[in-house]
Amino acid sequence: KEYVKGFPKESDLYVTSDSTIELRVPDGSPEGAILVKNLYLSCDPYMRNRLGESKYAESPSYLLDAPISGFGVSKVVDSKHPNFKIDDLLWSSRIQWEEYSVITKPEGFFKIQHTDVPLSYYTGILGMPGITAYFGFHDICSPKKGEYVFISAASGAVGQLVGQFAKLTGCYVVGSAGSKEKVELLKTKFGFDDAFNYKEVNDLDATLKRFFPEGIDIYFENVGGKMLDAVLLNMRVHGRIAVCGMISQYNLDRPEPVYNLATVIYKRVRLAGFVSFDFFSRYSELLDAVLPYIREKKINYLEDVAEGLDSGPAALVGLFSGRNIGKQVVAVAHE
Ligand code: NDP
Repeated sequence: KEYVKGFPKESDLYVTSDSTIELRVPDGSPEGAILVKNLYLSCDPYMRNRLGESKYAESPSYLLDAPISGFGVSKVVDSKHPNFKIDDLLWSSRIQWEEYSVITKPEGFFKIQHTDVPLSYYTGILGMPGITAYFGFHDICSPKKGEYVFISAASGAVGQLVGQFAKLTGCYVVGSAGSKEKVELLKTKFGFDDAFNYKEVNDLDATLKRFFPEGIDIYFENVGGKMLDAVLLNMRVHGRIAVCGMISQYNLDRPEPVYNLATVIYKRVRLAGFVSFDFFSRYSELLDAVLPYIREKKINYLEDVAEGLDSGPAALVGLFSGRNIGKQVVAVAHE
């Protein structure tokens, strides 16, 4: 409706309908256009930037009074493209938040080959968050068996996976999350060694010292702010910090200062930012590694599915209050 300032609200978005749509590629569309039925929409924190006046050219502001877009899963219902057939299932970063969409350039959309797993997983473990967690942990953090790993926003789309990849690597893993229920999930469903509710902690530094008496080798950073500052005091020599996200900062006019950055010098800590797109060309590696884990139930993946497009605004803004328990998805249609 209008560009968001501060915390996003449900009323910043609206849902409207257009009954005139025909379920075929409209006459006059460019050659190669397809019509898709949108099935699952992914709610991702980076969308906050696009809801406001974006500072980043790579992630421009959404247009006002037009459908927002993001990652999602769709089915082809009509096609004028030689490589896309009716009933093909696709996932992409360019799915519009609407029931049906005409896509004029579907090149770059991923075709879904494996349908023995829930299709919605292509918004999560088998989509962008999976790529982020898998390559962010294995490539950016260079983990070794026995290392001490800490993950913030640990029960979310990315965090729950990083923790399970770390356990499969033989690491000691602790996560932080924002409720008792999430902390229990980390310890039971996702197999973390330990977990705590950061909202109940007065002294983050002392808490981290209690959970990591020998320090932290790897910090998978999802939140930024006070948590990062406390972690910096607890890193081990030659530790690694993968700067994946800083959700605690996205709604602030002025980012919070980080006071303890100089500790990376004498601790020789490697601090590396990355974006999931850096690894999209290696998507087949994720499928090869993770599909067997899903089929053999060596990895659990928890989704929070909101039903219907009308539930989209609340689901999306809920990311910023921790309303989601697991990966937040909006199911527009189940095929
Ligand atoms: P989640 O599924 O974890 O959902 C967001 C969660 O963040 C909420 O459930 C909430 O959990 C937590 N949160 C919200 N506000 C705050 C706050 N002020 N302080 C601390 N925690 C907060 O999201 P994702 O797993 O999709 O994303 C996690 C992080 O990874 C984000 O920072 C995101 O921007 C980043 N990311 C980066 C990518 C990249 O390419 N670099 C790609 C994908 C994600 P809780 O109840 O525990 O507080």
